[in-house]
Amino acid sequence: MAFDRILGQEQPKKILKNALQSSNVAHAYLFHGQESIGKKQIAIELAKSLNCASPVKGDACDECTSCRKIENRTHPDFFFVEPVKNTPTAREAVIKIEAIRELQRKLAFHPYEGKVKAAIIDNADLMNLQAANSFLKTLEEPPSATILILISSNPFKLLPTLISRCQTIQFQPLTHENIKKILKEIMTEQMIGNDTLAFRTLRSRGSVKKALAEDIENIVNTRKEIVNLLETISFDRMDVVFSQAKSWASQSDQWEIILNELMELVRDLAFFQSGCSESEVYNRDIAKRLKLLATRKTVNSDCSSLGLRKATRFSLYTCRSEVSPKEFSSNVRPGSCSSEKYRQRREITSTSASGEVVPINSTPNW
Ligand SMILES: [Zn+2]
Repeated sequence: MAFDRILGQEQPKKILKNALQSSNVAHAYLFHGQESIGKKQIAIELAKSLNCASPVKGDACDECTSCRKIENRTHPDFFFVEPVKNTPTAREAVIKIEAIRELQRKLAFHPYEGKVKAAIIDNADLMNLQAANSFLKTLEEPPSATILILISSNPFKLLPTLISRCQTIQFQPLTHENIKKILKEIMTEQMIGNDTLAFRTLRSRGSVKKALAEDIENIVNTRKEIVNLLETISFDRMDVVFSQAKSWASQSDQWEIILNELMELVRDLAFFQSGCSESEVYNRDIAKRLKLLATRKTVNSDCSSLGLRKATRFSLYTCRSEVSPKEFSSNVRPGSCSSEKYRQRREITSTSASGEVVPINSTPNW
């Protein structure tokens, strides 16, 4: 697949094609941006273009032996390193120092049949500290005829010394139009309906993986539950909130979905309250209902718009941290969200989120 056949990412493609045409390719790149937007595809394409037997204006031909071998990952000068789990039940995959040492050993030789050795480190932020320090030496003194491409969705987790030795290229989320085209291509066998296609596209946030992975039915039901709750929430009826929080607390496998949906709905409500249009919200399919909700809560309520957000967030927060409903109630005065407990917790989360390195699973700063 030549660069031009990859959908989106015009700027990264332009930068790389210019570098290829002017023979000014950097020895190390860091491709960063959210998951599943084409970083890996473009990295492979770059490796193909550098080794292609008959490139056309910097683009790989896709037909020569070298192109086909790199595409199938069987080229002797193409190396792909990705995180692996220590055990099948391990929570997180990791790139260990052994994998980096193995790569360094292979990079020490001259290219076997290509012009350039190309190494891609996928999810480079999952290198452990030992591996990252070891890889740093390779970046500092790169072997000849070698290109190193680091890929990361969380570049802030990489060592600054690694980042500073790479040319960084930022990738942007894909447009809805491109997501639609890709979904149509991938999901042809499933006979995807127009409504499903539109819903998945809308919720993709520019990521193909997100568009494909969404369990639509579950998400629709969860979202409906949250909207119903937001419509009934008030400080006079906190029992409704706690009853719902208790129910959610027992569904630990659903927490990620619940919190994501809640955050997105609250975001949309805040957007509407700030006068934004329907085209700017995530949940456009229920925009009218959300608009009404945002207006109602702003105009006539003992719970201000900010209070609505905080109360809902807090209900979820209590279900994740051991604050009992009783403890919360005793610190919350009707019409106010400024309880001491609330402020204390806010400070803790704000402090952790305001540092230069933000933990991936940190509680959002609310
Ligand atoms: Zn080729």
